[in-house]
Amino acid sequence: MTEYFEVLRRDGPSRLGRLLLERQIGTPGLLNREDYTSAGSIYGYGSVDEALKALEALKESQKGQKKLAIMPYVPSALHCEPPISLPQLEIDGPKGVVIHPFSKERPKEADLYVLGSAGSLRNPRDLVNAVVGVRNRTPPDTALFAPALAAPSNLAFLVYLGVDLVDSIRVIIDAYYGRYHTRDGVFLIDELTKLPCMCEHCRSLANGMDPEALAGHNLLKLEEELLTVKQMIRSETIREYIERQVRVTPGLTTALRLLDREHSYLEARTPQYRHSIFYANTAESLQRVEVTRYAERVLNRYKAPKSDVLLLLPCSARKPYSTSRSHKLFAEAIGSHRRYLHELILTSPLALVPRELEEVYPAASYDVPVTGHWDREERAWLQGCLDAYLKKNRYTRIIAHLEGELEETVKSSGLDAVFTGGGTKDDDLATLGDALREACRGAVRLPDPRVQRYRAVADYYFGQGAGDALLEGKVAVRGREIQDEKKRPLAMITPNGMIALSMEGARRLEPRESYIVTIGDFLPKGSLLAPGVVDADEQIRPGDQVIIRGEKAFGVGRAKMSGWEMVQSSRGVAAELRQIANLNR
Ligand SMILES: [Zn+2]
Repeated sequence: MTEYFEVLRRDGPSRLGRLLLERQIGTPGLLNREDYTSAGSIYGYGSVDEALKALEALKESQKGQKKLAIMPYVPSALHCEPPISLPQLEIDGPKGVVIHPFSKERPKEADLYVLGSAGSLRNPRDLVNAVVGVRNRTPPDTALFAPALAAPSNLAFLVYLGVDLVDSIRVIIDAYYGRYHTRDGVFLIDELTKLPCMCEHCRSLANGMDPEALAGHNLLKLEEELLTVKQMIRSETIREYIERQVRVTPGLTTALRLLDREHSYLEARTPQYRHSIFYANTAESLQRVEVTRYAERVLNRYKAPKSDVLLLLPCSARKPYSTSRSHKLFAEAIGSHRRYLHELILTSPLALVPRELEEVYPAASYDVPVTGHWDREERAWLQGCLDAYLKKNRYTRIIAHLEGELEETVKSSGLDAVFTGGGTKDDDLATLGDALREACRGAVRLPDPRVQRYRAVADYYFGQGAGDALLEGKVAVRGREIQDEKKRPLAMITPNGMIALSMEGARRLEPRESYIVTIGDFLPKGSLLAPGVVDADEQIRPGDQVIIRGEKAFGVGRAKMSGWEMVQSSRGVAAELRQIANLNR
């Protein structure tokens, strides 16, 4: 439990927060030497006793001020367990504890953890394993400080990986070796005929090398990069930024690829929704949690309506697809057959988007470079998803209105379908219309597509069967809202494709025991704070709609942190309430 660190926003493992020392430090941030006192390595003392006594001096120096006190520690090589273990040491103010990246020892309580041997983490695998391991072993409401590691080129990745605080030691020392830092990498200043920077330090460096001026430039670049990274977290585009920033060195690109293999670490921290457009610009985009989560939910949570006919369509640049010119033309060609077929849109990197889920994040807000060329990974991913989908959802006839390499990809998967050649010219659409007329003859009629959409979206967000529970009995869609037979609202689909439950809707889903936050014996107002949470569903991610339940209260809200984080945190907003009822009244 910490009083001195608070996480305010999250995007994947990266977070915006504040460390409350004598000066308030916004994180990600730079920890300066004046911000802490450190008892240092126990080897700096004559005996362990002496080292522990130094703690008393530390306590004394901390009196009356909120300086971070870093406890004495036992140094050890990167992959070695420290030779001795120190007891839990108590102190009144903010406390820092050195944690060895690969130690199996249970971490001591702290407000801030200092990553031991961080400066030696030059190997990408060590770096990723160290930070992921430490973040998994320490409480989510504590800060992580990695000293002697940050440079302008790797700072964004360190923050994305889960580091909250860094220092300027590396860039300052590098100045004395003539190393000139930029976001785009490190250069030897002797080899630069002109300096690619206009700061005052660089202007003075034009008159001759001066380590202090070079240190000034290096520090400025680190601080500028910190501002950029914070902005990227605020604008919810940190992942897009990382994907281009790691190109600076093969080592950083390796590190991102290794981090992407830590799927559960990323998944547990990735929000349900971002306001930004999802750019799938790189090979790594295919590994993003948003992509695998969407595909996994389409295959496991979603259940297609019982339909004899399946129509496969290509995606469009404009989202949602229905608003695009090509899909409007497809809709005209489909005409009255719409009630006798089910539409599935094929795309990269999301693979399959059922028509009912086209407004759900990120289906309604992704952008991808379109060349018409499908590379081997994209093909394999699409074919694998389509195979799995068709094993679960059966149709008797399939029409594929696809062209080019997308059509080839589907054909080469051996799919038994009528291929109509794709396209939006009059002739192409006439071919599609003819094929549909033939296929829909004698086909079953589907339920109201608007109700279908609510069912699909509810399954997508709350799990398989949630749609059936929410829409039980007689229901009707009015505008963006769905109502029961007494015209009470059950849920609405928000403009960003989320579903918002009403109190009645929440009551219908409550017996499923999922997406529930259990709170103590009180009535929350406005925001639900983490200390009030007794238990929370592990599936909950930031942005999810949740049902809040306690002895005195029942309501609905939107999660601000993951379910596991609500349970483990002692600070911060767990959920914003939308509606809450007092059960004792
Ligand atoms: Zn400069």
